[in-house]
Amino acid sequence: MAAAKEGRKAPSRKSAAEEQLPGIEDARTAFAPALSGALERPRSMLRALRFRPPQLLHLEGGEAADRVALALWWAALLNCDDPEVMEPRASAMGPCLSCSSCLRLGVNMHPDLILLDGREGSIKIDDVRGLRSILGEKPHFSRWRVIIAAEAQALGIEAANSLLKVLEDPCPDTCFVFTAPQRERLLPTLVSRGWVVTLPWPEAGRPLAEELRPWEQALGRFVSEGRGWLDMTAARNGMDAAKAHQILLIGQKALADCLAGREGGMLAAVFRRMPAQALMQVDELFVECQDQLQAQVSPLLVLDSMAARLHILARR
Ligand SMILES: [Zn+2]
Repeated sequence: MAAAKEGRKAPSRKSAAEEQLPGIEDARTAFAPALSGALERPRSMLRALRFRPPQLLHLEGGEAADRVALALWWAALLNCDDPEVMEPRASAMGPCLSCSSCLRLGVNMHPDLILLDGREGSIKIDDVRGLRSILGEKPHFSRWRVIIAAEAQALGIEAANSLLKVLEDPCPDTCFVFTAPQRERLLPTLVSRGWVVTLPWPEAGRPLAEELRPWEQALGRFVSEGRGWLDMTAARNGMDAAKAHQILLIGQKALADCLAGREGGMLAAVFRRMPAQALMQVDELFVECQDQLQAQVSPLLVLDSMAARLHILARR
């Protein structure tokens, strides 16, 4: 009887919201980096945290794409519509990534997801101030409101302090996630308030992103021959801290390639000709440049001084 009734039931009318569901492919693309086998350990830590999520979670390590995708995955884990996901026994289960909630989160079209995106530029104090008005309320559609500060090292000092104040106030049913290459890139007071999950550091053997190759070659050439760096003029005009960090990572990757005996690019080849002691200095130099960028020193100044000092080290 019940089965017959079920069979006759007219398909339920989709609400306007459901009709605008984002494409499954777009969401898949957004989550894909989070599903890599290399991230199994951080995923299992997040699964263990899902019943009592920390107010603030930091995702460090890996690459920006992995961190941001994992932050979205975390948001989906907290809010997936599949009831089994919240079963304590289903400890190995992740979010379904196909329900309405998961799909919306994946493409940043969920009303209870707020993404402060530092990948393109700095996160401004006005973005943070805008949070205050909504945080006193409960989330509208989901169990948890999730606020992601993607690449939170892009928070200006004012915005970071404002965010600290936000975190001091009660925010019912709200989880914050900050992604950053290393926790040291954030205000220590922000780090100490949160729970840190570290992704495996970038697989240094992975090929360099296409758009970074010219930078790798220019830097390699300059360090080796002392010329060619300033020829990147057109691209240098748009230099901001985020781009400078990427270029710094080129250097760190080249050093890792050299130390691991991988072929790498031109810069790794220059490093291979340098004595071990000089390579230690190169390593220290990179950390120093990272600190300078963090302290808002002009990105172009940091990079030029880095290139010059690498050249001097290579000539010794
Ligand atoms: Zn789901």
